[in-house]
Amino acid sequence: MSFHVEHFGCRAARADGEAVSNALLAAGLSERSPAAADVVVVNTCSVTAEADRAARAFIRRAHRLNPAARILVTGCYAQRAPGELATLPGVAAVVGNSHKAFAPSVALQLASADRPSASVPIVSVQSLLASSQPGHHALILADDKFAHSFLEETQAVPGAQTRPNLKIQEGCDNRCSFCVIPQTRGSSRSLSAEAVLRQVSTFVAAGGNELVFSGINLGRWGRDLASVPGAPLESMPRPTLPWLVRQIFNETSLPRLRLSSIEPMDWDAELISLMDEFGGDRLARHAHLPLQSGSDAVLRRMHRRYRPWHYTEKVAALLRAAGPDLTLGADVMAGFPGETDREFEETLELIRSLPFGYLHLFPFSPRPGTRAWALHATQPVPPAVVEERMAALRMLAAEKSATHRKRFIGRDIDAITLHTPPALASLACTTALTENFLPVDLAGQLPANRLIRLRVTGLTPDGALQAVLAAPVPAPVPAASQLLAMR
Ligand code: SF4
Repeated sequence: MSFHVEHFGCRAARADGEAVSNALLAAGLSERSPAAADVVVVNTCSVTAEADRAARAFIRRAHRLNPAARILVTGCYAQRAPGELATLPGVAAVVGNSHKAFAPSVALQLASADRPSASVPIVSVQSLLASSQPGHHALILADDKFAHSFLEETQAVPGAQTRPNLKIQEGCDNRCSFCVIPQTRGSSRSLSAEAVLRQVSTFVAAGGNELVFSGINLGRWGRDLASVPGAPLESMPRPTLPWLVRQIFNETSLPRLRLSSIEPMDWDAELISLMDEFGGDRLARHAHLPLQSGSDAVLRRMHRRYRPWHYTEKVAALLRAAGPDLTLGADVMAGFPGETDREFEETLELIRSLPFGYLHLFPFSPRPGTRAWALHATQPVPPAVVEERMAALRMLAAEKSATHRKRFIGRDIDAITLHTPPALASLACTTALTENFLPVDLAGQLPANRLIRLRVTGLTPDGALQAVLAAPVPAPVPAASQLLAMR
């Protein structure tokens, strides 16, 4: 039996897709292309209308290529509009984020549908069919309770992904006016500290060197948990992300941890001080703080919880703690309803003033059910203006990225080798990623998952660092000896 998982969307969504893949591999299925797989899992995103369109186009293409494949659609689009997806040709099941924990077992049953002797599934599709909505042939599992939404039982391992994502937080309690996530992923929930530590220890024991913590609102990790495990009853402090990171550094031998996107106001003094203590060593000097807009008025209309000056202060504190080699990233949106030329210029000014290493740029896209949907109906920014603003942002982002990367030419920096695409391997080069999140073409051939020290010699035409080894490559540590027993 075989499967294919197609990923769309953010890092947290990717973690969900990887968890489904790992569960299916552990169940004995093999990975194939969409044209050859028995079951095709489409892990959708719904952040924009374009994301929805891309998912539908992939589903249609997969069905055309492989009409016998059973298609399971999951992710944010599956949660937002399950009925819409259930009518697409080839779709056998739609599993919303609310029921994501069931996605691997439903996929397993779909893969073995005509093979009655296949291994016993964890959840019976027949028992779940009762939940399916009338009028659709496809199984639909989605509700607004999100009781089965965490894929916490799936272990992150260094495999197809050298630096896997471990999603430790799900959902969001904020109500940004443009965002559909509170509808598609529910309120904020945290993976328990024990489960996170168990995952990290097992990852290290399997030879893993870099793990990425991800979440929908990662900085909120722990807010829904009762107390710090083992704390005296009278104090009962609530666990926080900085507390968890410190636990990981104390209790495991994980060589490198990377934190994905964290909202500006969640970079508190404690988290910033961890960057001071461990940055460049066990904590990657990489901070992604969603910005969205540099205009106070637009941030207010977006219902964001910070103002431009808060953002600037947080970045200054981070740079003091991590130093100027920190790679700073942000999400920026162009064309939010009512955004004036002046407001957009404020965004450009703020971006010009800060040393961003990269920007993720998005045109505003109205999402049904959000407050900005109504705003868009009355104050839309014309598409041509949005495109002009996107072009200005793209140009600025390219300048910022080049300036940041040039700083490293002639210098030595730590990195991890990744799986090298065949085209680059044929040139006797290896793909790597620096500790501070810069892509590298390294001269020489090395397997993935080696921690190396490299010397940057220049930039490739597409902006990656060109590098040579600056020190002999340490022999890989036998995985079993890396295991630190949980105390
Ligand atoms: S913080 Fe705002 S933009 Fe981010 S997931 Fe929550 S509601 Fe959406």
